[in-house]
Amino acid sequence: MITFYPGPSKVYPQVRQYMLDAYDSGILSANHRSSAFMQICEKTLGLLQAKLNIPETYSVVFVSSATESWEIISQSFTQNSSHHYYNGAFGQKWYEYAHKIVSQATSQAFDSNQNPVLTEVPEECDVICLTQNETSNGTQLPAAFIESVKTNYPDKLLAVDATSSLGGVALRIEQADIWFASVQKCLGLPAGMGLLIVSPKALEHARKISDKRFYNSFLFMYDNIQKYQTHYTPNVLNIYLLMRVLESVEPLDSIADKIRQQAANWYTFFDNHPSLKPLIHNQEVRSDTVITIGATEDKIAFIKQAAQKEGIVLGNGYGDWKSSTFRIANFPAITEQEIRQLQALLKNIDK
Ligand SMILES: *Cc1c(COP(=O)(O)O)cnc(C)c1O
Repeated sequence: MITFYPGPSKVYPQVRQYMLDAYDSGILSANHRSSAFMQICEKTLGLLQAKLNIPETYSVVFVSSATESWEIISQSFTQNSSHHYYNGAFGQKWYEYAHKIVSQATSQAFDSNQNPVLTEVPEECDVICLTQNETSNGTQLPAAFIESVKTNYPDKLLAVDATSSLGGVALRIEQADIWFASVQKCLGLPAGMGLLIVSPKALEHARKISDKRFYNSFLFMYDNIQKYQTHYTPNVLNIYLLMRVLESVEPLDSIADKIRQQAANWYTFFDNHPSLKPLIHNQEVRSDTVITIGATEDKIAFIKQAAQKEGIVLGNGYGDWKSSTFRIANFPAITEQEIRQLQALLKNIDK
């Protein structure tokens, strides 16, 4: 089976061997306060910083998912309110979730084909929340936009959902204070773990707020990771697999170059296709990692069936675009040969 589902998505083929290695090494039976675990944890954190260009001053903690990060940001990093700027289902869900925890949370929606312009940030808000790659519609925020938010609102924290781009896009981590992602998208690993990346400024803000009310309050996580431990019982297998995958992958800049070229190739392919068109026509905001294609409901059902016959799984539409689109993950674990196979199928879909 070949899957282009944008999460959970194709895992790297090496993962099979790494799982056997994990078993054979005994780490899966080791206590998470043991030095065996602490060594793996330390090594993984070092590889994350090196391979994903995370500045040394930033801290990384393991969480259970990207969605858990939404909760942690509301509980541990928000003193007054958060402001959410979004154009799709994930950004909106984040806002709705945050609003349940912090009732003063505010939002500003924008059109998915529009270039982002952030204008309505309330004075009292302390965290601005952006979705770098909106997986539901296949848009991304340009780095220049994120930079402008940082410059225009220097006193606020900038929190960015990079769930479907971290590991595939050359994000500039120093542009924001909080980033998070989960391993089942661009990192090509089994679902069930997320990463939360925190700047010194965000850490200082969390210390001021001093939230210690919850099982996953950030300061507990932070204190433990200083000792290469976690306060909860961690997903040891996924941490081990992350370590092995990071050891094996190329530096982020070359992965990101390849992903960008493949995305350009996908968009050219669909721009020239007789019946299938990218949902997003504004080239400046098209995602590199999630390609979203619009078509009629009947056509989509037909394509999915044709793909299935060839053992290819396409991503369903999501949220508002559930029945009017399908999605193609352009994640690093997917090979060029798999892409060629799907393009050959789609090329002849009208015949
Ligand atoms: C997949 C996704 C999430 C949810 O990730 P989980 O790890 O499954 O909680 C959140 N935000 C975006 C943008 C996503 O693509």
